[in-house]
Amino acid sequence: MKILIIYTGGTIGMKQNARTGMPETFDFAQIEEEAPELKKFGFVLDTISFQPIDSSEATPAFWVRLVTTVADNYDNYNGFVILHGTDTMAYSASALSFMLQNLAKPVIFTGSQLPIGMLRTDGKENLISAIETAASQTDDGRATVPEVCIYFQNKLLRGNRTTKSSAEHFNAFNSFNYPPLAEAGIYLKFNRQAIMPYPENDRLTVHTRLDTSTAILKIFPGMSQALLESVSKIQGIRSLIIETFGSGNAPTFPWFIDSIRKIADSGTVVLNITQCLRGEVDPDKYTTGRLLKKAGVVSGKDITAEAALTKLFYLQGKY
Ligand code: ASP
Repeated sequence: MKILIIYTGGTIGMKQNARTGMPETFDFAQIEEEAPELKKFGFVLDTISFQPIDSSEATPAFWVRLVTTVADNYDNYNGFVILHGTDTMAYSASALSFMLQNLAKPVIFTGSQLPIGMLRTDGKENLISAIETAASQTDDGRATVPEVCIYFQNKLLRGNRTTKSSAEHFNAFNSFNYPPLAEAGIYLKFNRQAIMPYPENDRLTVHTRLDTSTAILKIFPGMSQALLESVSKIQGIRSLIIETFGSGNAPTFPWFIDSIRKIADSGTVVLNITQCLRGEVDPDKYTTGRLLKKAGVVSGKDITAEAALTKLFYLQGKY
């Protein structure tokens, strides 16, 4: 069994400097020194280290580098584990899920809230279970989880369904609208019905063209006409995501609906997603939502903001 660990930075790859007490990045190629438990797997664990970044610095170019690294090594490994800062992990996992088509091998993102070199770290369990998931195979020798996921605190979640929901708890990620793909207790229990089926065509296709001409506008009580009009004048945007209230509602003031209609009529895709963490946009539930639908707004249903944004980047790159 061969697993490739791609280290990109974030808290997991740090250890406390004994003298200053400050967390510092360490050379991840020597990960087995920090986590000798990994030897017990008996797997070949190879590591590729990027110049470590805080994941707040992640860009589409960084995602392209990640998918290219996976693609270049695809035939030589059974699975991939990507160590990544937690802050933008849900964006990166969403982006990769669209960029890697016909994926037949696991690509598991993980990280930690405390550096792996710290006594109470959550990094070791996350890394060990992410590797175990990446190596898991069904009876016919195929990958159990042929998709892009996030493993964090005992849960394996679909990458493009996941959101970072806590800045301090070990249980930092949630997939509010889709069940976990696996839960780790004494056993790693896979929820096979929820996992993507093995692709009919298992030849990996990689998409590396992303077009970022997208804006996100969070609707709030008190939003001014001038603000919405200035958004409508942004040059070159091809899509506007509006984060609305509840099941997809927004004010019905004529200036609001008119401005949104003008944006949609100009050819910009206006996508409605909800500010709520759970549930979905249902444009027919209230007049407020229905008016948006009539103005040409598309329902994003129960998509996360991270998935909506990266899916538009991918679609705009493709079409
Ligand atoms: N700021 C860090 C990052 O996202 C936090 C983390 O790794 O958890 O890179």
